Amino acid sequence: MSVGEKYVSKNKQPLVVEHPYSILYKHSFGEVSPFFVGLTKKRLLGTVCRNREKHRNGKDLLFLPPRADCPECMAEVNEWVDLTDADIRIYTFTTAYFAGETFLSKVPFTLINIDVQGFDNSYSKLTSTLVIDEPGEINIKREDIRIGMRIKPKFRDVPQDKVDASVLYFVPAEKP
Ligand SMILES: [Zn+2]
Repeated sequence: MSVGEKYVSKNKQPLVVEHPYSILYKHSFGEVSPFFVGLTKKRLLGTVCRNREKHRNGKDLLFLPPRADCPECMAEVNEWVDLTDADIRIYTFTTAYFAGETFLSKVPFTLINIDVQGFDNSYSKLTSTLVIDEPGEINIKREDIRIGMRIKPKFRDVPQDKVDASVLYFVPAEKP
């Protein structure tokens, strides 16, 4: 069935013509742009609020994914930290055996929330994917994935104008 065909009745024959149509959508990453620029440079960046005296737990707060404003002290958060080589652990994980059409060809895949050691990042546990069979990396079995396992970030090569969060993924940093 082509466009307009369903409107054809015995008595009416609509005129259907085709016009090319395109739209340029400009998406701004706003205040967290450095995070996405960092991904294209293979760096993992988060933000830190150091107003620890105004935080309920008395600690500096790490935001990853980054936040431009602190939800505890309401201050603007301007400090960026490079976490590419940080001690990063699996906070929690799940394996998807079914997905929406976009990701269906990738099942099974493992979704993780990450925990960065040495910081309080209780406000934001970045969600990403764990690749367990990356050539040249430590390969593990899916059943060996564990909470607390050390992982490291990896970055797909994309030009800056094609960047999104799927550029980032993780691989095991140690054998189980
Ligand atoms: Zn704060």
